[in-house]
Amino acid sequence: MHGESTLFDMAEFEREAVAAMPWEGVPLRYVTEYHHPDDLAAAFERWTGEHGNFGCLMRSHMWHRAYFGRQDVAASDEAHELHMLNADTRCDLAEHDHSADPLPGGLMYQANCPPCRWHVITEHENEAVEAWQDHAMPGWRALPILPTKLSTADEKKARAAAAKWCAENYPAEWQRPGAPVITRRGPYGGRHVGGRSPFGGYDLAAPNN
Ligand SMILES: [Zn+2]
Ligand SMILES: [Zn+2]
Repeated sequence: MHGESTLFDMAEFEREAVAAMPWEGVPLRYVTEYHHPDDLAAAFERWTGEHGNFGCLMRSHMWHRAYFGRQDVAASDEAHELHMLNADTRCDLAEHDHSADPLPGGLMYQANCPPCRWHVITEHENEAVEAWQDHAMPGWRALPILPTKLSTADEKKARAAAAKWCAENYPAEWQRPGAPVITRRGPYGGRHVGGRSPFGGYDLAAPNN
């Protein structure tokens, strides 16, 4: 018991030490104006240093990287970058008062292109990805949809088949690094997947109709 309370005191002590340090970075709350993903991540880290990790996504409502341990930077050959961030703006905490600055109230998605200082915030991950495609690779919506017959559970074969089909059917200017493909999905496979096109770009789910 003794050891535990000492550890607890240490954690408390460390948090107080962090809280005592001045902070001049991104405000430590949900923000909608443009900030570099690294600055958003640094602010989130500062918040957890001060308040701990328990329930931190909802308690802080702050932006954090969507994929831990992986930057998930989709690049294009025009030097755009896609950084995906999430913020949990749902709140059922009695001690929070958001009346002065109301939160949107859902799980929010941000697509962020640092070289352009461009970002978009949406309630749906796919919309954020599509907005970035519009930003970085306008015209992608007119690309031909990959035929369903190319899809197979064997990812390696599927990739090879997609590469071959694109080589024969894609406009020449779209056969370049970062170009996406559009594929038809089953009823539960509607998520856009980064890095899965033959060009290293997104595999985008075709609209279901
Ligand atoms: Zn850009
Ligand atoms: Zn709250």
